[in-house]
Amino acid sequence: MEVKTSLLDNMIGVGDMVLLEPLSEDSFLDNLKKRFDHSEIYTYIGSVVISMNPYRSLPIYTPEKVEEYRNRNFYELSPHIYALADEAYRSLRDQDKDQCILITGESGAGKTEASKLVMSYVAAVCGKGHEVNKVKEQLLQSNPVLEAFGNAKTVRNDNSSRFGKYMDIEFDFKGDPLGGVISNYLLEKSRVVKQPRGERNFHVFYQLLSGPHGLCVTGKLKLDRDFSKYNYLSLDSAAVNGLDDAANFRTVRNAMQIVGFMEDEVQSVLELVAAVLKLGNIEFKPESRCNGTDESRVKDKNDLKEMCELLGIEQSVLERAFSYRTVEAKMEKVSTTLNVAQAYYARDALAKNLYSRLFSWLVTRINESIQVSDAQTKARHKVMGVLDIYGFEIFEDNSFEQFIINYCNEKLQQIFIELTLREEQEEYVREGIEWTNIEYFNNAIICDLIENNQNGILAMLDEECLRPGTVTDETFLDKLNTICADHQHFESRLNKNSKFLNDHSLPHNCFRIQHYAGKVLYRVEGFVDKNNDLLYRDLSQAMYKANHSLIKQLFPEGNPAKVNLKRPPTAGFQFRASVGTLMRNLQTKNPNYIRCIKPNDKKASHIFTDSLVCHQVRYLGLMENVRVRRAGYAFRQPYEPCLERYKMLCKRTWPHWKGPARDGVEVLMADLQIPAEEIAYGRSKIFIRNPRTLFFLEEKRKQC
Ligand code: ATP
Ligand code: MG
Repeated sequence: MEVKTSLLDNMIGVGDMVLLEPLSEDSFLDNLKKRFDHSEIYTYIGSVVISMNPYRSLPIYTPEKVEEYRNRNFYELSPHIYALADEAYRSLRDQDKDQCILITGESGAGKTEASKLVMSYVAAVCGKGHEVNKVKEQLLQSNPVLEAFGNAKTVRNDNSSRFGKYMDIEFDFKGDPLGGVISNYLLEKSRVVKQPRGERNFHVFYQLLSGPHGLCVTGKLKLDRDFSKYNYLSLDSAAVNGLDDAANFRTVRNAMQIVGFMEDEVQSVLELVAAVLKLGNIEFKPESRCNGTDESRVKDKNDLKEMCELLGIEQSVLERAFSYRTVEAKMEKVSTTLNVAQAYYARDALAKNLYSRLFSWLVTRINESIQVSDAQTKARHKVMGVLDIYGFEIFEDNSFEQFIINYCNEKLQQIFIELTLREEQEEYVREGIEWTNIEYFNNAIICDLIENNQNGILAMLDEECLRPGTVTDETFLDKLNTICADHQHFESRLNKNSKFLNDHSLPHNCFRIQHYAGKVLYRVEGFVDKNNDLLYRDLSQAMYKANHSLIKQLFPEGNPAKVNLKRPPTAGFQFRASVGTLMRNLQTKNPNYIRCIKPNDKKASHIFTDSLVCHQVRYLGLMENVRVRRAGYAFRQPYEPCLERYKMLCKRTWPHWKGPARDGVEVLMADLQIPAEEIAYGRSKIFIRNPRTLFFLEEKRKQC
């Protein structure tokens, strides 16, 4: 059986990496580049879609394209995200299989755009009708709302999602959407009070300040349009090319209305956003006390006054909460004074809490609008989950946030390995085909290092945070060093016996984890504080006392009638729990993967930076993915379409084969003298081991 390469030459690269010959990292990258240069941004690895960010709008998402891909077999047309969306939707509708779409890739790679493309495709092909259209609109319009509050301009992406999002879209038995549920993960709340150089705060702040004059300046909010008047808004990057804050604000308000927010709810939300800006402008000065210590006092009370008026808070209550802190033990209350640094810390903690709780409230509120009714839930329904979560992050300076984000990616990688192999294995079993296990690196060992209940890093951080006595980031690192020193994926210099003692790329205040995607150095500073996520009780009580129903709702622990002396769960604990729930949810569904790749660091079209793409291909494990796919049977196809496609190659099957399709395919393959070891006949599908065989069939077909 001779293989001709002309087939490859006639195409723009190879549409499915499984067919790439010879397979090497270089040929893989060449193929991606070749296709990218010809605006072919999608390439398959079997059923996995690789998506390259084109950084320009391509005419490939038109209604005509939707029609083209609708109800077509996955491999029938050239690779497209619509093919994946269609396949997922059809198997949900016709085969009753819950689906999940897992979208991964680094910041700026195109995950959020991909998730929106999938959602809009499904919305376009599923049922019509007044009620159904309303549901669709609400689901789609939840995106601009969450993006306004949860996205920001970063150096990597002008519209970077600073939270993780998972959305279950629910359908009835006909495949019409009924509603959905959104889960959000760890908003990067530190951004509210401080942004890295060249980055912005969350979009909504700038949008509100660019909003109608009557709303933001002369109305109740009393804001100044000048971004530079606000401490919490970075100066150097307020205006972003191509981003129209005023227009986006109109879009967001319109979206809120479609989702079902009442006018007074929108007003309350905007009041809270304005209050955060005013809070950031409250400054403190020291006042000496007779015992020689300094106590903090609010410097200029105007912002404090405006903020309190806006939220219906008694000024003296908040003012006091910035000067004193009450600690309640079992029987007594002890009040201590705050110095200026502590007052700033308290102010920022309040701003971060206020904003992140507002964000979670928005998600809950959207869910109320889009949720499926009880009666509908009881009826048989199907679910498509879409996961758009932050990608793996390796910065120069990595902190608690990166640690948590990378942990989540470790878990996703684990699920990728498990599900890809499990699915593969299950299909062979289902089809009655023999196969042997494939070796792969299982990152479970790294997940365990982080999440083990007894001696995982998160558990030790919690233990340290809850320990009485002096707890610092250094004592936490000491603890890690004693317990994890021998773990093969953990590196630290502190231990006397450490083999990293002379490794100067590993400073004393850091530890390094060898993640599946590469080594990451974490600086421990802030770990304890961020994990504790404490808000002084005086502040939550001040917020609870507000004459403002939304803010009152956001701080239930401030209710003096319900003083809870138990510590709230730590940030790490909560995240681990929600990631656990997410993983269990995903495991019950049939996975569909979109692996997004960023072609360059300049947010520019037409530039393909080899080293950058190579790095992503490595850590996304794409080569491994192709190998796994090729080690088993590279291709499989149900008998009917297979016979339909190749029946012209054999006189006995052309033009019509009378009898079962499987027999027809067997006759066809025998006639073409395809070696027996190349093919396995499953219960409903034919399996082809080597991509060359497929080339051969395709080539023959072309010659006919
Ligand atoms: P982050 O992790 O920071 O949220 P992300 O992976 O979600 O990043 P996106 O916001 O989806 O990245 O994409 C970044 C930008 O790239 C988009 O704002 C858009 O300009 C461009 N982009 C992404 N995908 C496409 C596409 N398919 N067609 C055209 N432009 C795209
Ligand atoms: Mg995003």
